[in-house]
Amino acid sequence: MATHEPSKRLQALPRYLFAELERKRADAEAAGREVIDLSIGDPDLPTPPPVLEKIAVAATDPANHRYPTSAGMPAARRDIAAWFANRFGVSLDPLEECAILIGSKEGIGHFPLAILNPGDEVLMPDPGYPVYFAGTTFAGATPIRYVLRESNGFLPDLADLDRLATPRTRVVWVNYPNNPTGALATRAFYEALVAWAERRDLIVASDAAYSELYFDEPPPSIFEIPAARGRAIEFHSFSKTFNMTGWRLGFAVGAPPLVGALVRLKANVDSGAPQAIQLAAAWALNAYLPTHGPALRAVYRERRDVAVEGLRKLGCPVTEPGGAFYVWGRVPAGERSIAFAARVFDHTGVMLTPGVGFGEQGEGYFRIALTGPVAVIDRALRLLEGLAPWKAPHGVASSPSR
Ligand code: PLP
Repeated sequence: MATHEPSKRLQALPRYLFAELERKRADAEAAGREVIDLSIGDPDLPTPPPVLEKIAVAATDPANHRYPTSAGMPAARRDIAAWFANRFGVSLDPLEECAILIGSKEGIGHFPLAILNPGDEVLMPDPGYPVYFAGTTFAGATPIRYVLRESNGFLPDLADLDRLATPRTRVVWVNYPNNPTGALATRAFYEALVAWAERRDLIVASDAAYSELYFDEPPPSIFEIPAARGRAIEFHSFSKTFNMTGWRLGFAVGAPPLVGALVRLKANVDSGAPQAIQLAAAWALNAYLPTHGPALRAVYRERRDVAVEGLRKLGCPVTEPGGAFYVWGRVPAGERSIAFAARVFDHTGVMLTPGVGFGEQGEGYFRIALTGPVAVIDRALRLLEGLAPWKAPHGVASSPSR
C-alpha cells in the first residue's frame, strides 16, 4: 500500500456526489458562465433574525466559550423534549432519550460506528441519502439497499424488506419526508414497519431531517408508535427548519441504549456543538417555529407549485412532493441521468442532480432542489424549455445523443 493511500473503507465509497457537483460549478463559474444551481439542498434563505439575535447574545456569555458536553446542554435538551411533546404528542426524557448533534449528518454518519460490527447488515433506501451507505461502510458493516418504487408512493414494500433481511440484519433506515423524492410516510406505515421490526428484532433508524417542511398535514414521528420507543432512533435537524445549514446543529431522540451508544461514540471523536447555537436553536423550536414554520412552508409551497407545473408543461413526468424541498422528475426516455444532467448543464447552466447519485434505482430520474427564489426557478424552466428535452412523449424512445 502506498504511503498516502486512503483507507480501504474510504476507497470503498463512491466520490461524494455533491463534492463532484461543486467542482463542476466552480469550473463553470471560473470560466464566467451563468450557473443556476438547483442541485444542492442548501436553503438560499438566511437564518431568521430572532435566531441570530439569540446566538449573538449567548455568544457573549463566557459560560458558552468552553467545551460543550458530547450529549448537549440539559437546558437545550429540555427545550427539545418540550417541543417533541407539543409537536408529536410524545414525552421524552431529555437526558436519557435525547442528544444534540453537530448537524443530523454527524449523527447519521456516526450512529453505525456506535452499534454495528463487521458482518452486520443494514437495510437502506435506494434512492436515498448517501450518508446511510457511507456510515455503514465505515463501520465495516454491509449496506443492503431496498427499492423505493414510485408505484408504492416511494415507501418501502415490507415484503421486500422481509426478503432482504437475514439473521445478520441489525438496522433498517427510513427517511420521511424523503430526500430525494419528497414522499411522506403515514402513521399507518410506521406502525406496520415497527411491527415488522419487532418480529425481526431490528433497530429502526428514522431520518426526519425535513420533518417541518411539509405542504399539508404535519408528518408524524416514528415515536408516535409506542412500540418504537424501545428499538428506534430518530434524527432531526435545525438546518432546513431554520435555514441553519451553516451553523451545524441537529439532535437524535430514541431508545436510551441507542442514544447512549451514540453519545459514547461522540465523546471519543468530538466535543459537542457550540453552546450558543444549541441554546438559540432549541429556544427557536418552541418560541419561534409557530410563526416561522407556516411562513417558511408558504415559500416552499409556491416554489414547488411553480416547479411542478412548469416541468409538467415541458412534458416532464413529476410526482407532486408532499414534503422536503425537492422535486423528483423523470429524465427523457432513453437517456441516462448523468448524461441528462450534463447535457442540461452544458446547454443551459442549470444544475440538476442526476438521480443515480442516490443509488441505482435513481437511474431515470433527476432531482431539483427548491432552494432558489421563484424567479430563479422560472428562469431555469425557461432555459429548459429552450432545450425541450421532453419533447418526445415519455415512454417513446428518443435519441439518447441529441
Ligand atoms: N438527512 C437528509 C435526508 C438530508 O437530505 C440531509 C441534508 O441534506 C441531512 C440528513 C443532513 O442535514 P444536517 O446535517 O444539515 O442536519
